[in-house]
Amino acid sequence: MRAHILTIGDELLIGQTINTNAAWIGEQLDHAGIDVLRAVTVGDDHAGIRAALAAALAEAEVVILTGGLGPTHDDVTKLAVAEHLGLELQFHPEILDGVRDLFERRGREMPASNHTQAMVPEGSEVLPNRHGTAPGLWIEHAKNGSLQIVVLLPGVPFEMRTLMTEHVIPRLASRHGLHNIVHRVLHVSGIGESNLQELLGDMSPFFEEGVRLAYLPGPSTIRLRLTAVGEARQEAEARLDAFEAAIRERAGRFIFGTADDTLESVVGGMLRERGRTLALAESCTGGHILDRMTDFPGSSDYIKGGLVAYCNEVKIGTLQVSPETLRSDGAVSEAVAIQMARGVRLLTRADIGMSTTGIAGPSGGTPEKPVGLVWIGFSDASDAFAVKFQFGDDRVVNKERSGAALLNLLRKRLLEEESARR
Ligand code: ATP
Ligand code: MG
Repeated sequence: MRAHILTIGDELLIGQTINTNAAWIGEQLDHAGIDVLRAVTVGDDHAGIRAALAAALAEAEVVILTGGLGPTHDDVTKLAVAEHLGLELQFHPEILDGVRDLFERRGREMPASNHTQAMVPEGSEVLPNRHGTAPGLWIEHAKNGSLQIVVLLPGVPFEMRTLMTEHVIPRLASRHGLHNIVHRVLHVSGIGESNLQELLGDMSPFFEEGVRLAYLPGPSTIRLRLTAVGEARQEAEARLDAFEAAIRERAGRFIFGTADDTLESVVGGMLRERGRTLALAESCTGGHILDRMTDFPGSSDYIKGGLVAYCNEVKIGTLQVSPETLRSDGAVSEAVAIQMARGVRLLTRADIGMSTTGIAGPSGGTPEKPVGLVWIGFSDASDAFAVKFQFGDDRVVNKERSGAALLNLLRKRLLEEESARR
């Protein structure tokens, strides 16, 4: 079964209200195994609503509309839908009684404009709204012998959600044998989107089986969403198992987690498992990485502490970075990154010290050291090194990317140590 979502309201078009309804309804329909083809937003405008509804009915069996059901003059959804489907509006006294009750319970008098709430397209089923005055409407419309369903819901998010959960989803499920759509998420770090696609190579045999793959890149990591559809849940899960195995075989070293995992949660878990402790000396990231790493209860098991060592004075005075190195190599350099990592490790008696030093931007770069250059240092009892990264000119994104780079470096290091021991 295929669906369109139509969200209606001028406020959605001009960014005054974030369209949470479309996202939420999309998720619910998807969970129910309904294929969401399109989510369209239109203003409180008669002709616009009719055009969007016509487009929806041309390709979907279900259309869910939200917004514009209220009693005020800008609420035109019901009228536009009725006109488009060629239905008369009929008066339903029980709706008006319900609205009057609601006003009475709140100790208020019902304004006359609420009469329009009780006018609904002929043949529609009324879905009672426990939380507000505008009921939902379920309209079945015959097209070339097959039925199409048009559902009108109020725009107020919690009213809409209750109606969806209590009425719309159960009705859709009972009328149509729904398919099972199963998703899985793999988190990838340390490789760009296009390189990843190249590495995965030809996936068409899986796509021909109806399995889908989506790349959802963030500033520093990529989410891979794997989707399979099946009559039965186990069937869809089995297809995903095979698909995931193929992806892991090709790109497994870049996959750091699944579902709600984050780089910091995964790396934190690895440190805890190995009984290792970490300290950070952050220059260009200004404490961002420690902040991320301490978002988890129990992070004190593996985080010793850290320092924002922004100016040279602090790098010298607290981390024992050599003034000569700072003069000869500059603060953003391999040698200083290593000395910072070593310094914070010794200062805190952590097993591992790591550091960031870079040119966060947007200005301050030179031809040799352009904006976005970041060195990440590593030091433990037996080893010390630094790795160079080149990011862009957005300060905040550079912090985020430096954080991901540091965490990914640590993750790879811990994995290498483990395979060296074996
Ligand atoms: P009411 O019976 O309250 O008049 P309605 O169906 O007319 O309901 P609207 O007037 O369009 O709904 O919207 C009511 C409220 O819900 C507004 O505050 C609006 O910002 C919010 N809202 C409407 N549509 C959405 C949406 N798609 N996502 C999130 N909020 C929305
Ligand atoms: Mg509105």
